[in-house]
Amino acid sequence: DNPIARKPDWIRVKAPGHPVYHETRKLMRDNKLVTVCEEAACPNIGECWSQRHATMMIMGEICTRACSFCNVTTGLPHALDQDEPQRVADAVAKLGLRHVVITSVDRDDLKDGGARHFADVITAIRRASPDTTVEVLTPDFLRKPGALEVVVEARPDVFNHNIETVPRLYPTIRPGARYYQSVRLLDRVKQLDASIFTKSGVMLGLGEEKMEVAQVMDDFRIADIDFITMGQYLQPTVKHAAVARFVTPEEFEEYAAMARAKGFLQVSATPLTRSSYHADADFAALRDA
Ligand code: SF4
Ligand code: SF4
Repeated sequence: DNPIARKPDWIRVKAPGHPVYHETRKLMRDNKLVTVCEEAACPNIGECWSQRHATMMIMGEICTRACSFCNVTTGLPHALDQDEPQRVADAVAKLGLRHVVITSVDRDDLKDGGARHFADVITAIRRASPDTTVEVLTPDFLRKPGALEVVVEARPDVFNHNIETVPRLYPTIRPGARYYQSVRLLDRVKQLDASIFTKSGVMLGLGEEKMEVAQVMDDFRIADIDFITMGQYLQPTVKHAAVARFVTPEEFEEYAAMARAKGFLQVSATPLTRSSYHADADFAALRDA
């Protein structure tokens, strides 16, 4: 028996065979770039890469944290690569992206948590592709005073930081993080620069109760978070947290309706929703509205 829970019919993913998928893959290899699409073994890679939508992961492939849902390797990361901001900017320009999502591993080993590097990446993209909107998906910068401000000053269009799960499950799912620190981080972004859209997301199917998800949504609204994403958690390997249950598409619909009623500007809640899934199209729709 496969100890990883059998996926229900509604978790269907497109096989990665499209010619543009291979082009995207080659471009990432040629520019020596790491993507969260591959590192997190994202089920949407076939679809996203066929549309040139890839989420680049900066500051290496090794993370200082060990979240129990995440497929990224934990350990002591390498020194920062000072050429990386330019390589990322080159790839964004070659892909001709209207919107790009940049994320990173957590760098608790660095004094500023990697904030300056994030800012450098944003600036390099702006220089090479002034019309591209930039979304950053950052670490929590826990115990890194001043770090958040550095990223905000580089003025990303969207500041995303994932809460991942309800507070009760933090000790097992996200042991290195603090729920309220993460909510406060996004609250602070809005206070520093109200023109930046803020965004966060949770994975469902980890054992959370509906009332707890509703509470998270309320916490998000109090912190003025604009966009919310909700998707089904999938277990990357047997060593990771098990799926408690598969949330049905109907339940996702209910959560989406609940989120819209609470006033989020943008809501994405389907089994295959990921933080960066359709981020380009969603943001373009908002921008053109
Ligand atoms: Fe990559 Fe995000 Fe698409 Fe997954 S949903 S393949 S992480 S861009
Ligand atoms: Fe994965 Fe991010 Fe947790 Fe690191 S901090 S283990 S990259 S989810």
